[in-house]
Amino acid sequence: MLKPSQAGFRRLIPLLRPHLRQLLLGGACMLVYVASFPLLVQLAGALFPALGSRDLNRVMQLIGEGVLIFAVQKLAQFGQDSLLAGPALKVSQRLRRELFSTLQRVELGALEKLSAGDLTYRLTEDADRVSEVLYKTIHDTVPSLLQLVVVLCTMVWLDWKLSLAILLLAPVIVWLISLFGAQVMRATERSQKKVSELAGLLGEAIEGLPLVRAFAAEPWLQDRFEEEIAQHRQARQRTYSLVALQHPVVGIIEVIGLFAVLGLAAWRIESGDLTIAGLSSYLTGLIVLIDPIAHVTNNFNEFQQGQASLRRLREIEQEPREPNDPIDAVSLGDLSGDLSLESLSFSYATGQPVLHQLDLQVSAGSVLAVVGPSGAGKSTLFSLLLRFNTAQHGRILLDGVDLSRLKARDLRQRVALVPQRTTVFSGTIAEAIRFGRRATDEQVANAARLANADGFIQALPDGYDTLLEERGSNLSGGQLQRIAIARAVLGDPAVLLLDEATSALDAEAEAAVQLGLKQAMADRTVLVIAHRLATVQEADQIVVLEQGRIVDRGTHDALMQRGGRYRELCERQFIRDLQNG
Ligand code: ADP
Repeated sequence: MLKPSQAGFRRLIPLLRPHLRQLLLGGACMLVYVASFPLLVQLAGALFPALGSRDLNRVMQLIGEGVLIFAVQKLAQFGQDSLLAGPALKVSQRLRRELFSTLQRVELGALEKLSAGDLTYRLTEDADRVSEVLYKTIHDTVPSLLQLVVVLCTMVWLDWKLSLAILLLAPVIVWLISLFGAQVMRATERSQKKVSELAGLLGEAIEGLPLVRAFAAEPWLQDRFEEEIAQHRQARQRTYSLVALQHPVVGIIEVIGLFAVLGLAAWRIESGDLTIAGLSSYLTGLIVLIDPIAHVTNNFNEFQQGQASLRRLREIEQEPREPNDPIDAVSLGDLSGDLSLESLSFSYATGQPVLHQLDLQVSAGSVLAVVGPSGAGKSTLFSLLLRFNTAQHGRILLDGVDLSRLKARDLRQRVALVPQRTTVFSGTIAEAIRFGRRATDEQVANAARLANADGFIQALPDGYDTLLEERGSNLSGGQLQRIAIARAVLGDPAVLLLDEATSALDAEAEAAVQLGLKQAMADRTVLVIAHRLATVQEADQIVVLEQGRIVDRGTHDALMQRGGRYRELCERQFIRDLQNG
């Protein structure tokens, strides 16, 4: 949890600096806008007696002046609002951009623990709230405060004795507003947390809806959802109740002030110290005060709510980040793809050792199959090869260069991953294969040909421009896998990390994917987390990983002959393949 001081809006002020010119121009308009209030107050002082004396010419002249002052004031208000909106929006845009960029650098392990729904909520709703507060503060709270001060000063100047009641009550009002504000902030933080949890549950629910239906678990999910929304309603109710209470409490104090002023005024008119003209000006001043008080009160509540949101955004910055690239990073030339692991040991933050002293040589262009039960550490090994995590002991060398001495981007261009489950972003097929990299249409088509995907893509009505729906739902599993293979080979990586899909495809689709893989694997070093007998049979080397240790290694034939863990595993794990012959 962040301390309030770490999350304050004050930290956003430096971000306003590049927009100083616009802010100054907007500020100048604001001064004109605010300066017109004392003029209007004076004018009212003259207008009411003129009305009383039926001096029509004087009344018309004063009305004319009033219209002129109003016209200038509204013009200035337009200038102020339009000029100040830009900087506020740009600051919030920058805040969002920086947060998203931070998110892209959060350590993957930490990211996995965060809920996608919660993060989405923070980066949309919370960021929106902060943006709204920034905008309101600059274009509404600041001029309202200025208006308050200027009008109050005018009133003191008009009649300081009459202003005594207001001056005595003002600190009480300020104290009450800030007291409520602190409560509102706490209540908002609670309710925002609830919405985030709700978003997290919704994300899970939408993803898992087919499963929920399959298990007829709808009532259970509905109950959970209702429980969450009830908690959210309670938290929100507290905010609304506080605001609801604040309005009458502050309102009563304001009315006390008004009656005190009227009482004092009656007494001073009676004793001849105050004229009707003076009272008219004074009461106009009072009326002009009501609006900025309401604005400042409301905005202060929103400011406190924004403070809670800003704090939630700042929490993302506290997540551990991927380590920076080394300053003296080695740049890689042409790679042959020799990989070696030297007594590699790794444990996650939980402290449990996951990989123990792995020693392994994978010569360029060869295929290493990694087999082992679930939880053995196979995926963790891949995450080290991509430098998503860093080993505590030992090292990984690529063509003799320690991975930790490379730039992460450089490394990830040379080592490509074909994951077990293909994830694609919505967009065209060509975009999915490019995945942000620069490549000509020809290069994309070549990669697709290697992945045995070109044929089916060309057969689609829009070919490479076919739009992929969310999660690629308009393609079959086998087609998506071939897109993932094309994506991996597009940059011509020296090393291919292949996490074989466990879900079975039909024989035809399987054959198409296997052909794609075979072509993609040629002339590359390949590490494959193998789930298929055919894959391990063809591998140059097999290692059996159990509880983070290599317990067996060799070729398929040698290991089968030797018996032991590999053969056991084979017989159990690949029983389907064996039965299929
Ligand atoms: P495999 O891929 O062989 O199934 P993993 O590499 O996924 O195995 O997991 C190896 C061990 O590390 C397991 O005990 C797993 O619980 C643990 N593990 C995996 N990922 C994390 C993580 N992000 N944080 C903590 N422990 C993890």
